[in-house]
Amino acid sequence: MPYPDDCPNASHNAMKTSSIHHEPLLSVGVLTSPRIAFSLSEAFLIQGSSQRLPAGRYTASPAADGQVLVSPADKDPQTAQPLTLPDAAVLEPSGQGCFWLEQVRIGLQFHWERLQRQQFEGSLCLRHDGQGQLIAVNLIGLEAYLYSVIASEMNAASPEELLKAHAIISRSWLLAQLRENGSQTEAPKAGAAYPMEMVNAQGEKEHIRWYERDAHRLFDVCADDHCQRYQGMAHSDTPQVRAALQATRGQVLSYGDDICDARFYKCCGGMTVSFENCWAPEPHPYLRPVRDLPQGAAREEDYSDEEAARDFILGNPPAFCHTTDKRILSLVLNDYDQETQHFYRWTQRYEAQQLSEIFRQRSGIDLGRILALQPIERGCSGRIVRLRVVGEKQRIIIGKELEIRKFLSNTHLYSSAFVVDTEGRRPSDRAPEVFILHGAGWGHGVGLCQIGAAVMSSQGYNHRQILSHYYPDTVITQLY
Ligand SMILES: [Zn+2]
Ligand SMILES: [Zn+2]
Repeated sequence: MPYPDDCPNASHNAMKTSSIHHEPLLSVGVLTSPRIAFSLSEAFLIQGSSQRLPAGRYTASPAADGQVLVSPADKDPQTAQPLTLPDAAVLEPSGQGCFWLEQVRIGLQFHWERLQRQQFEGSLCLRHDGQGQLIAVNLIGLEAYLYSVIASEMNAASPEELLKAHAIISRSWLLAQLRENGSQTEAPKAGAAYPMEMVNAQGEKEHIRWYERDAHRLFDVCADDHCQRYQGMAHSDTPQVRAALQATRGQVLSYGDDICDARFYKCCGGMTVSFENCWAPEPHPYLRPVRDLPQGAAREEDYSDEEAARDFILGNPPAFCHTTDKRILSLVLNDYDQETQHFYRWTQRYEAQQLSEIFRQRSGIDLGRILALQPIERGCSGRIVRLRVVGEKQRIIIGKELEIRKFLSNTHLYSSAFVVDTEGRRPSDRAPEVFILHGAGWGHGVGLCQIGAAVMSSQGYNHRQILSHYYPDTVITQLY
């Protein structure tokens, strides 16, 4: 593959298991605003000074000299003396206290976006964002953070072994992401996306792009879906999640000395796919194709060939995630709609005009009427990595999987594992009138298949078996 930045050994920068011996303290960027309103349940110590802030309500704002002004909100603003703190000052509870942030915007860019008061344990750090605003950063132990994230995203009725597997992959994923940040170094990673526009050796135009999570500069992770949704202390206690975290405390998935970048998605469609089919061409040996069947039943299989992909997708073979068990599906899918969710195998039908218009709007590329969709490279799971789209005006090769899913749907196609049939012929030139995409699976297909894992746990597999099925050759390592 002619990638100019091809670097097969680039995974050497993975976070090492040998570099972590204690529970890490995580910095979570919760809120950025010119004025931050917060409350303290008890006196908080100001780290590095003998001062303390008594319990009460405060507002913080950036001062021109790079410091942070904190004013008591309850007292008469004429008489209350604001306190000046250095940038990035850390306020630490003196006992078991907590703090609240007012007016935290949640549901960013969703239809339900609103402001919320959120409660936090751990410390509060107030720092300049470099653009005239302050960031409220919560410093919190990794385990407490994971409890909050998992309790809000997992169904408490999930089997214990599924919760344990989820706790280990969340912990691993999180620690693996921190390596990219270099944790609060000043140099951000160059861009979130890797576009490549080129003309290949055959003289064809190619648009190949994949997306990496943008690293944060001033904290480890943010509080919204970009990283993991975090809304402070959980609203209600979930003993099942607490037990799963306690049982796996400090455990990560590792490969050699590397902490695994444990990716996951909803449904593989029968087989998982290699990391490099979706992202940078950097092999991750534990993110490689696995047939989603019990060991022994699964042969070495490869559906990258067009005919094999068609047999596999239309054949609708068995797999762990090939289930219609409503109870299991409702564990994994938050807004599970029993009538409409067909994702192990799915069909999308388009009039040629409609498809051409969607492609033009979503890609910004005007091909004219689309005449053909020609898969030219697939991964082992049948997911298309490069797709030639032939239009009346021009043709282009697009990839990788997320770009294909984005350009061929008003939302996103469930996956890039599909075969194409056409119907009808325009009398003038025999161009197809209708395109039918027969697809498999939901999501990128790299790593753990959430529906498959839920089925495995309901069949009595334990979390170790589930993890070694989806992440071959990995082991569970106790870091602390
Ligand atoms: Zn983020
Ligand atoms: Zn699966």
